[in-house]
Amino acid sequence: MDNFTKSENTVLKTEDNISEGNNSADYPVYSEEELEVIRKRMEQRRAERRAAAHRRIMRNRAVAIAILLIIGILIFRACHDDNGITEPSQSSSSQTERSDSKAKKSDSEPAVKMDTPSEKNEHDIEQVNGMTFVDGILIVNKTYSLPADYDPGVSTVAQNAFDNMSAAAANDGITLFVNSGYRSYQEQEMLYNSYAMERGTEAADEVSSRPGHSEHQTGLTFDVNTTENSFAGTPEANWLAEHCCEYGFIIRYPEDKEDITGYIYEPWHIRYIGKEKAKAVTESGLCLEEYLDITSDYKYADDNSAS
Ligand SMILES: [Zn+2]
Repeated sequence: MDNFTKSENTVLKTEDNISEGNNSADYPVYSEEELEVIRKRMEQRRAERRAAAHRRIMRNRAVAIAILLIIGILIFRACHDDNGITEPSQSSSSQTERSDSKAKKSDSEPAVKMDTPSEKNEHDIEQVNGMTFVDGILIVNKTYSLPADYDPGVSTVAQNAFDNMSAAAANDGITLFVNSGYRSYQEQEMLYNSYAMERGTEAADEVSSRPGHSEHQTGLTFDVNTTENSFAGTPEANWLAEHCCEYGFIIRYPEDKEDITGYIYEPWHIRYIGKEKAKAVTESGLCLEEYLDITSDYKYADDNSAS
């Protein structure tokens, strides 16, 4: 009993010593058991201090996260109130957030271009008797074909335009003449089939149009002077490229547009679309397919069963 009390006192004293920095001159000597008790208490205290520190850190962290969340929500709201423009939705909560601000907007002022319907082709596409007109331009390419019985002959408007152009060219010392103009469905069919028999359809598709897909069937197209590649870069080809739009023609298959038009560069092949449109297309630097946002590919063709 006596021993226990003594030991208890010693421990207390020791703790005081520890907390005071232990600078006592007559430092007591302890038994193993007493030292063990002291060690355990110290260990316990340290553990308590660590736990307290940990709780503090966790509390601070929670506060910081809460503050960041609040700031985030405020920024999010501020952005959506300012713009009024929707962005691709990320979560259902932002969805409701947005519809709230949307409702707010529509109260105060007219909505700013909210959910724009996906812009398809802005151009006016019209189907008439199996023919396709885009912005009033009759389209014939690998996607769009003409009926077999469409047999207009050469267009007098296009022919007159060519004659005027040819006369103007002559004034500049340039000779332009029609090498090939109107071609009927049947003529094109014979032409294409002879290529296909000779070299196969794949090779034929590279140099010739399938029947119904030749622009020459429109009566609005001319091959000028020659269909030899050597025509490119000649004074005649240069004059044609520079002036044909003034007479309503475009170079239909320009250089570096093969992937889009479906045809190699043909500096001799011109198509009448009218002066205004020809100038607009030429000035745009786009080929007709790009200008009208249409394709030219047999895989999209309405008559894809064709040979
Ligand atoms: Zn041609």
